[in-house]
Amino acid sequence: MADATRVPIVGGNWKMHGTRSHAAELLHALRAALDGITDIEIVICPPTPWLADATDALSEGTLQVGAQNVHWETEGAFTGEQSAAMLVGTVSHVLIGHSERRHVFGETDEQTNHKFRSVIDAGLTPILAVGELEAEREAGTTEDVLRRQLHAAFEGLRTLPIGTVIAYEPVWAIGSGRAATPEIAQEAASAVRSIVADRFSESTGALIRIQYGGSVNADNASDLAAQPDIDGALVGGASLQASEFASICGAFAHAHRLSEA
Ligand code: PEP
Repeated sequence: MADATRVPIVGGNWKMHGTRSHAAELLHALRAALDGITDIEIVICPPTPWLADATDALSEGTLQVGAQNVHWETEGAFTGEQSAAMLVGTVSHVLIGHSERRHVFGETDEQTNHKFRSVIDAGLTPILAVGELEAEREAGTTEDVLRRQLHAAFEGLRTLPIGTVIAYEPVWAIGSGRAATPEIAQEAASAVRSIVADRFSESTGALIRIQYGGSVNADNASDLAAQPDIDGALVGGASLQASEFASICGAFAHAHRLSEA
């Protein structure tokens, strides 16, 4: 069971799905389905064109809005990009280092570091995703990969804002329907926590929240939520179904209530 001082955080990454009217319907459905789930933080990450719609639609509730991507420069001739400074006032969180950014768009550890730092500098909360490829897991190098990705992302930072969220997302589990077992997810989350503690401080390691992501659904959420180092989930496909996403959020809220009892 996770430490009761860490409030679980569940993110819904819509990726590049939907239409504007579908987004409006989904936001409406999410508000209704998530009403009453108060023990956790929930961050909805729609595609960029609907970020402002989401912020408006969710302004009266507790649901937060996150961006899926950012450029590290504050402004300039970067056609098609948006800076963290530009997202201020619209979103609270930004996804950084998602495996699709790393492996589909070829983002490097160094670019991830620039993005991560730009989000922190803008006063927004990063959700930093790290995770190994299947071949890296099979080769037994998962922890080395996590250490490399985390150290690279932290380059140049003397402290880590305690609100920072780290998402452990094994690449082989994302969108595959093959979620990591709770044991594998716990082992990796624990490794992430130790790496953060070694790099910054014991208290940073103890306070930072670590999500698991990769084919999370209503059926596997409770077992993942019961793990001591897993403080939430980053959800892709299942975040496009309000009732499924609400079940996942409910599982983490339930686990948190148990940890407080
Ligand atoms: C994700 O997009 O971060 C993700 C984990 O996707 P899915 O839940 O669909 O595996």
